[in-house]
Amino acid sequence: MADNVSALPFFYGNITREEAEVYLRQAGMNNGLYLLRQSRNYLGGFALSVSNSGRFYHYTIERQPNEMYAIAGGKSHRCPTDVIDYHSQEMDGLVCLLKKPCNRPKNMQPKVGPFEDLKERLIREYVKQTWKLQGPALEQAIISQRPQLEKLIATTAHEKMPWFHGTITRENSEPRLQNGSRTNGKFLIRQRDQNGSYALCLLHEGQVMHYRIDKDRTGKLSIPDGKKFDTLWQLVEHYSYKPDGLLRVLTEPCPRPDGETVLIGRPVPPWNHPILITKKTAAAGIRTIISKLPIPGTKNPRPPVGPNPYETVERKSSPVHEETSNRMFRSKEAMPMDTEVYESPYADPDELRSSTVDRNQLFLEDGELGSGNFGTVMKGIYKMRKTEKPVAVKILKNDDNNPSVREEMLREANVMQQLDNPYIVRMIGICEAENLMLVMELAELGPLNKFLQKNKNTSVKNITELVHQVSMGMKYLEEHNFVHRDLAARNVLLVTQHYAKISDFGLSKAVAEEQNYYKAKGHGKWPVKWYAPECINYFKFSSKSDVWSFGVLMWEAFSFGQKPYKGMKGNDVMQMLESGKRMEPPVNCPTEMYDLMTTCWTYKVEERPGFAVVEPRLREYYYDIAQ
Ligand code: AMP
Repeated sequence: MADNVSALPFFYGNITREEAEVYLRQAGMNNGLYLLRQSRNYLGGFALSVSNSGRFYHYTIERQPNEMYAIAGGKSHRCPTDVIDYHSQEMDGLVCLLKKPCNRPKNMQPKVGPFEDLKERLIREYVKQTWKLQGPALEQAIISQRPQLEKLIATTAHEKMPWFHGTITRENSEPRLQNGSRTNGKFLIRQRDQNGSYALCLLHEGQVMHYRIDKDRTGKLSIPDGKKFDTLWQLVEHYSYKPDGLLRVLTEPCPRPDGETVLIGRPVPPWNHPILITKKTAAAGIRTIISKLPIPGTKNPRPPVGPNPYETVERKSSPVHEETSNRMFRSKEAMPMDTEVYESPYADPDELRSSTVDRNQLFLEDGELGSGNFGTVMKGIYKMRKTEKPVAVKILKNDDNNPSVREEMLREANVMQQLDNPYIVRMIGICEAENLMLVMELAELGPLNKFLQKNKNTSVKNITELVHQVSMGMKYLEEHNFVHRDLAARNVLLVTQHYAKISDFGLSKAVAEEQNYYKAKGHGKWPVKWYAPECINYFKFSSKSDVWSFGVLMWEAFSFGQKPYKGMKGNDVMQMLESGKRMEPPVNCPTEMYDLMTTCWTYKVEERPGFAVVEPRLREYYYDIAQ
């Protein structure tokens, strides 16, 4: 939650406005007495309840697309607490200044909404079903994509609710409500079309009332002239405690007939698009249902419109709605799990795990991906038993027959072969043919520093997401006692703009668990600007020295691929570090991220945190800004 709002003593969580009024009344209802609660209609939003002159006022603090918070029409702020600080100085449209927080009674925790309880289970189930993941791959997917998954679940969770009956007709809905118990307030929701139009069907004195629910241009759902909501489950939650214009409150969800699968119509998400489809998305039953349904702009059966005064005449498929759904369609982004390289190609038991690649199954393409002192990296296709994988092939140049370069490449292959993590470039195998070739997963967008130099409009959220993924890969290395020794933005390769992998294990070493560092025999051709003082002074390398390099990598990322310690010689850098000075923060770098960088640049190894600490710190900040 934004800036850890739940820790605020005046934050009450998911309480209703009536409950808020009770707390304010109990606390004396003074002018300017206020409390903060979770918005029950806007995802990630808050509500501010204030008492003044014997009355209560409630303001929604919306979370804006640029990750700022504001009371509708008011000034934007970085977090809800900044909104409160501002309005304790300026009324700026509020009924009074915010004077005194109304703190929670002793021992009361912020109230957790019903969806919060469900959410964890739904996310896990969704990832399991959609991408067929289990074990560490499942856990890593949830950690790295939690904000995206939460949003996805929040907007599709209704499909799992007993009251959601999918695309049934109005005629079909009525007997469902009339069957079994005929409790007043028994209800269901059906989908009317794929542009976000639904109907709430409610049993009232033996009669079924149909209320239309429409989606507006901004994607908010409402009954005509009613309160607006981000999701159907929020709408149901609201009308379950308050009629607010309906004939009565919702009481009992009308269950779907036994064993019925919900038919849903919605735009096919991009990860289901043929270009991005993978074995997993294709295999997911839930998606198969979706892809059989018409996509936006195609004709849908028109639900019958009856004389019921509560359902207004149906609007013809309007261009505005099509535009909205197309925009939604475009703005959704592929997640790491949607790509071919999230799991090892050998995760499929039908593919034989082998460290060698048959040259006849490997097809090189024209054009270099990059080059180094060993030779070139080319793009290729590797034909496996069941699939064809696009790959990157590191080819050792033949000319000098330099045995040390060959050994170096084999050493790199040996390290890579022992690693299997979504945020590390995996080796697929070694191919000994006209040249020695190292076949790896393809990360087509190339090195992070170059990508950011060319894409200066990349958002802080996006950079944080990528850097967090690198910290996840490094945490894995740390847990498996490997030191990278060349961690830098140039050695982070992008699969997509939202998926980073650590590469270049040429200098990497496995370290003994008990000793946990590697002692180099002498000074080599080292990337000294990325190295911790103990590497330069004592030739000692550990996961903690990788943490130092990670700090430099973060600096590179938040400065859009600039060179660290620009124009300085290695010796000058060492002197600067010894004198206690560190690089300045990159322009517009969030303070939280610069603080973390400087923590990574802690001089003493014993005081420097490991990736087990760095990763959760990044995670927390990423969730905060991305939720
Ligand atoms: P390296 O010496 O391993 O850093 O590789 C040199 C360059 O080749 C990198 O900077 C990338 O541009 C490219 N490259 C290396 N490995 C891959 C890969 N797995 N996928 C895509 N490009 C790669």
